[in-house]
Amino acid sequence: MKKELIEEIGDNHILTNIETPLLSNAFEKSDEEKIENIQRYFSKIMQELGLDLKDESLSGTPYRFAKMYVKELFYGLNPINKPKLSTFPNKYGYKKMLVEQDITIDSSCEHHFLPITGHAHIGYVPNEKVIGLSKINRLVDYYSHRPQVQERLCLQILNDLQETLNTKNVIVVLNAKHLCVSSRGIKDKDSSTTTIEFGGCFEDIENRNEFFLTLNKK
Ligand SMILES: [Zn+2]
Repeated sequence: MKKELIEEIGDNHILTNIETPLLSNAFEKSDEEKIENIQRYFSKIMQELGLDLKDESLSGTPYRFAKMYVKELFYGLNPINKPKLSTFPNKYGYKKMLVEQDITIDSSCEHHFLPITGHAHIGYVPNEKVIGLSKINRLVDYYSHRPQVQERLCLQILNDLQETLNTKNVIVVLNAKHLCVSSRGIKDKDSSTTTIEFGGCFEDIENRNEFFLTLNKK
């Protein structure tokens, strides 16, 4: 790919697919094998930058880096790590809006592998199923821990919740800061990005307004 196009895709945060693009053999190797390999590759990158890996402070960095990538920052790539989203019958017959707000987002942009941090605000109107509140946080955490594009993260959370809750009545709002915007490129420290995806009853502007009013009342 041409260098200019590579930069353009990164700076415009272009999204190509709602599914995270994965190789068919993505999870054939164990985490331990991946850590071993990434450790080796990252040593090469550090050496290429001119760093002396014999230095005590640097010598463990390739291992720390590899472990952090596989086990922490990108644990959400592997479906085996997906949290179990048990639902419960809506025994109270609760039919109004439920809002969970200020859920932490700790993600990484797939164009620069730099942090995306912010908050998710999620609302839903239950049908026959409800979900434990902490499960929503866990789901956000899972999809965040992949190389991401904010629009895709928003859609992946929405689609999953709609399927789990068996209703289209879900709204997902993400507000986040991208380190690749604040620390490189345009270097804007203050701007943030908001994405909004919804379905079902939230297609109705009055329901959307009620949702946003609830957020503002906090
Ligand atoms: Zn980026």
